[in-house]
Amino acid sequence: MRSEITIDVGAVRRNARTLLGALEGAELWAVVKANGYGHGAADCARAAIEGGATALCVATLAEALELRATLPEPRILVMGPVDDVGRARDARLELVVGDEIPEGLPVHVKIDTGMGRWGVSELASPARNVVGVMTHLATADSDPDFARTQLARFREATAHLDLVRHAANSAAALRIPESRFDAARCGIALYGLSPFGGDPADDGLEPALSWRSEIALTRLLPVGESTGYGRRFVAGRDTWIGIVPVGYADGFRRDLTEARVLVDGEPRRVVGVVSMDALAVELDRDVARGTPVTLVGDGVRLEEHAAVAGTINYELATRIEADPTRARRVVIDSEGA
Ligand SMILES: *Cc1c(COP(=O)(O)O)cnc(C)c1O
Repeated sequence: MRSEITIDVGAVRRNARTLLGALEGAELWAVVKANGYGHGAADCARAAIEGGATALCVATLAEALELRATLPEPRILVMGPVDDVGRARDARLELVVGDEIPEGLPVHVKIDTGMGRWGVSELASPARNVVGVMTHLATADSDPDFARTQLARFREATAHLDLVRHAANSAAALRIPESRFDAARCGIALYGLSPFGGDPADDGLEPALSWRSEIALTRLLPVGESTGYGRRFVAGRDTWIGIVPVGYADGFRRDLTEARVLVDGEPRRVVGVVSMDALAVELDRDVARGTPVTLVGDGVRLEEHAAVAGTINYELATRIEADPTRARRVVIDSEGA
């Protein structure tokens, strides 16, 4: 296989426990939309529940139905719009809605306090099947003051209601105590990724995903010769490079030039632009074909790659999807459960 993506569900379980500890009594609801941020929704959902999560959240009806097929028990909330309420009811799902409240299944009404997307501005007297009221924060990771403004609006809009209230995402759950209410909807932190783009260890989190490949070929680029499309890397002196059979079609973005990876445990830089199926790393000597390469993991953090590519770890994680024709996906459990 060209590369191997390993998901440690033990890390997901520990992250769930860490989040629960931070929540000081509020429930943890595990957000496993987008195939568990690319980590595998069902595996991560199961681990999160073992770690203490009491509900699962997804974005679409299709995601919820797929999850329900393997997990008959847990509460599942669909946070995005749903066009087939009958199917949601049959699958015992809970919906997040705005001003139109469907009947016959539990719903959570979304109050827009400043995200400027879905949601209503107030909720006068809710119908009987309204079980919860929620809001979503736009700036919990970047502007806690505005997040607190949203939380104050939410508190005011819901003070007269005797319903479960939930507002926090990962960033708020970790850093804004007054966001916690009755439950927090945590995604990114569950996977051991930092909602702040820094080191997840700062919040006691452990990355669950690692991604490894190997050197498929080495060559000595003579001075003045280049590697890759567009000749973006031209050797300033005779330079050993290694070719790794992973490219942007595998989820290793085209703009990860200069990203740090490990070759046999030693830090090396990606050189040139990443191709669809391959990337090049600069070496300091020739190495054997098959020498291990760590693209993510063993201290190489997705947050670093995100900074190089000018994006966020969320986007990178959701793009590293194990296509079985290109990569092997392995699930391990470091807790041995
Ligand atoms: C995705 C999502 C979350 C989870 O956010 P993280 O930053 O990944 O914790 C929470 N609530 C809603 C409504 C979401 O769409």
